[in-house]
Amino acid sequence: MNYYGNPITKLIEELARLPGVGAKTAQRLAFHMINMPLDQIESLAESIVSAKRNIKYCSSCYNLTDQDPCPVCLSEKRDKNMIMVVEDPRDMAAYERTKEYKGVYHILHGAVSPMTGVGPQDIRIKELLVRIQQGNIEEVILATNPNIEGEATAMYISRLLKPLGVKTTRIANGVPVGGDLEYVDEVTLCRALEGRREL
Ligand SMILES: [Zn+2]
Repeated sequence: MNYYGNPITKLIEELARLPGVGAKTAQRLAFHMINMPLDQIESLAESIVSAKRNIKYCSSCYNLTDQDPCPVCLSEKRDKNMIMVVEDPRDMAAYERTKEYKGVYHILHGAVSPMTGVGPQDIRIKELLVRIQQGNIEEVILATNPNIEGEATAMYISRLLKPLGVKTTRIANGVPVGGDLEYVDEVTLCRALEGRREL
């Protein structure tokens, strides 16, 4: 229903498509935006478009970046022989906040999930294998989330890595089962990393 005139209704509809934004929140945000100064709202709109236009995937680790390779892959301080496999760039950010991990990453952009029809070919597993076959990787740390999908993904990858003879480890259970790495505190993440076991 169109109570407010087309431009506002359209704005509310667009906002309501975002994850975690229901109809009420969309309406609240829309009215907030209309009351913001024009320069602020222009800056917000530009930063959304600019983020979308200028962000790409790192051709090595598939992190989101505006420069390729990404800053982590580019850094000479990072151990390129150790790869931590995570589901999402936000999980990588969580490990970066601990300042403990000195290797590089591989971001899968998802996890295998028969429930939602996400298969191994839908996430960046093939690219991980290519990377391992190219260089002398000493260890692959599987740091997918400790839930059903994350465990299934870790098991699947570890089976693929077995014939390649690369040391493969899984982060410890310090991370609460069913949890989401992004929200786990840094101490717990450090413990999970230190306590990793070989698969
Ligand atoms: Zn990278």
